[in-house]
Amino acid sequence: MVPRKIAVLTSGGDAPGMNAAIRAVVRTGIDKGWEVFGVRNGYAGMCDGQMEPLGAREVGNILQRGGTFLGSARLPEFKDPAVRARGMAQLEAKGIDGLVVIGGNGSQSGALALSRMGLAVVGVASTIDNDLAGSEMTIGVDTALNIALEAIDRLRVTASSHKRAFLVEVMGRNCGYLALMAGIAGGADSVVVPEVEVAPEDIARDLQGAWERGKAHALVVVAEGARHNAVRLAQHFEQEKGRLGFDLRVTTLGHVQRGGAPGAFDRLLATRLAAAATDQLARGEHGRLVGLMRGEIRATPLDEVVGVPKGIDLGLLQLQKVLAQ
Ligand code: ADP
Repeated sequence: MVPRKIAVLTSGGDAPGMNAAIRAVVRTGIDKGWEVFGVRNGYAGMCDGQMEPLGAREVGNILQRGGTFLGSARLPEFKDPAVRARGMAQLEAKGIDGLVVIGGNGSQSGALALSRMGLAVVGVASTIDNDLAGSEMTIGVDTALNIALEAIDRLRVTASSHKRAFLVEVMGRNCGYLALMAGIAGGADSVVVPEVEVAPEDIARDLQGAWERGKAHALVVVAEGARHNAVRLAQHFEQEKGRLGFDLRVTTLGHVQRGGAPGAFDRLLATRLAAAATDQLARGEHGRLVGLMRGEIRATPLDEVVGVPKGIDLGLLQLQKVLAQ
């Protein structure tokens, strides 16, 4: 019998742990007797036919590395069915009949669209934003959170030496998960997330209150997707510096949050999810996203997760306020 051929690609924003996922797709696929192709540069490479078979050795020594050795890309044109058909034709030309898409919300929208065109696709939830319904934790978010925390801990040291307040902006696109968790674990005085509208005046009150309670420093963790991001908040406070008590500084963490080596949690999650993805394909089950739900690996139909708002735990936001006193 001709061995089955599948392909794996990484798409959208890179996330620590994507390499571990690629490795597990390749090796569990080979274990099933399949040939596994690695597609370069996401959907862009798929449309250009940039794909080659990967052996077990070719995915050696990548488990511990951040980023994605296959490369990632953004291809807005992939929303066009004609462009997707071009990509599918590239797979067909090589006899590939299954695809694993490692990526976030946008990438899984592409996976759903391909699935509706008849391709056997399984998605693996991977984004540092943790904005994908169908997985309580996505690959990369734990590592990104730890990097943000390390930065916050360091800022706290310098802040307390100078009686300063820091506005620290973290990533997360339109999702406040990273900001909320970094805020709680980093002992922030205030957290600003896109999901809950806050007026700059509320933040000013938090800072003032911290000053009056005798705190030596203050930290506000702001999600990049919040209406009042860190830069806008700082601009707002420019006129009322004296009122806050603290001297104010802004630090935007940006892409340093992405580039870390995956921690144990992300390596294990990536490995388990990727193995579950090839198991799904082997069972003839596809059009699904594999993710972590209540501590277990679960597959959910892509049309139930793509574009579905995930939300954040508002109870934790409340807890953060209590802990900031
Ligand atoms: P992420 O997967 O990290 O959320 P993006 O939102 O940038 O990243 O999406 C990655 C890629 O997925 C896009 O550049 C595009 O090629 C593809 N994509 C996004 N949305 C769709 C869609 N609605 N239909 C088809 N492809 C899409």
